[in-house]
Amino acid sequence: DSPSPSSSSSAAGGVENLVIIGSGPAGYTAAIYAARANLKPVVFEGYQVGGVPGGQLMTTTEVENFPGFPDGITGPDLMDRMRRQAERWGAELYQEDVEFLDVKASPFTVQSSERKVKCHTVIYATGATAKRLRIPREDKFWSRGISACAICDGASPLFKGQVLAVVGGGDTATEEALYLTKYARHVHLLVRRDQLRASKAMQDRVFNNPNITVHFNTEVADVVSNTKGQMSGISLRRVDTGEESVLEAKGLFYGIGHSPNSQLLEGQVELDHSGYVLVEEGTARTSREGVFAAGDVQDHEWRQAVTAAGSGCIAALSAERYLASNN
Ligand code: FAD
Repeated sequence: DSPSPSSSSSAAGGVENLVIIGSGPAGYTAAIYAARANLKPVVFEGYQVGGVPGGQLMTTTEVENFPGFPDGITGPDLMDRMRRQAERWGAELYQEDVEFLDVKASPFTVQSSERKVKCHTVIYATGATAKRLRIPREDKFWSRGISACAICDGASPLFKGQVLAVVGGGDTATEEALYLTKYARHVHLLVRRDQLRASKAMQDRVFNNPNITVHFNTEVADVVSNTKGQMSGISLRRVDTGEESVLEAKGLFYGIGHSPNSQLLEGQVELDHSGYVLVEEGTARTSREGVFAAGDVQDHEWRQAVTAAGSGCIAALSAERYLASNN
């Protein structure tokens, strides 16, 4: 029942040392560390985000806050570099989605449409998906006016010094609104209900900030553009009266939450009430021995490429240690 091979470079008895699920910064960083530790990790990269591996950063243009790139780097370029680094050290990469995962019985079973792999440890790094409003022109203006990350995009030239809006009424939306006041001329917080759901402390900070205007009972209907095709405003609808209006704004930030991609682990390891994988604080350990989680799927708070990468490193080193101690 316990894992055997750790330092061996190939799978013993057809059972792999480690399977990594996911190809965002968490998955690839885990793959780099595990491959360098000679664990020969098998990586299921998936293609759920835009039909390509690489995760959420494949959907963005410039990444300005990943250390080591003083002039910024595009999301796809950064992810391609991580991928090549993992491959160079011997990670076995498959562009396949995992469709079935059994971590109740050892060795674990990981299955895609193409193959079934048995393994002693799993690093689960499937990320999270920002919830979207699904307004008509969302796809057209995604990353060109609409964003789901103030920390990532707030300082970009597109938004700096402009009037911006944030949609949502919880902690995420209020955090985003407060953060954006550092760069924006003014921030509008668009709240569908007649009150905020955010903590009292966050509410106080919002209401006491003269650079934030809160609009209650207000729904986003769509975004509008100018004759140059740039986003210039947001069509709003009052939920109580149905009255429609246009708010001038150069950016719309979604603060309506994220969905962790934890479905494959449901019923097998402990998840929190929102579906995030629970890990022991400061570690990558889940409630099931040998199963580690990294990146946004276990992090509802920071959700950054560098934190995801950091947790991927912790997960790989933890898997290595677990394999060695059970050898
Ligand atoms: P993800 O990047 O979400 O990757 C998860 C991976 O798992 C994907 O490849 C997916 O296909 C795969 N997967 C899911 N299910 C399966 C399955 N069943 N089988 C196999 N694979 C599966 N952060 C920054 O630090 N700086 C930025 O500038 C920045 N800009 C951003 C811009 C946008 C538009 C978005 C959406 C996010 C941005 N972020 C930024 C946040 C950053 O992208 C995330 O924090 C980071 O990508 C999380 O990494 P991850 O490895 O946990 O997961």
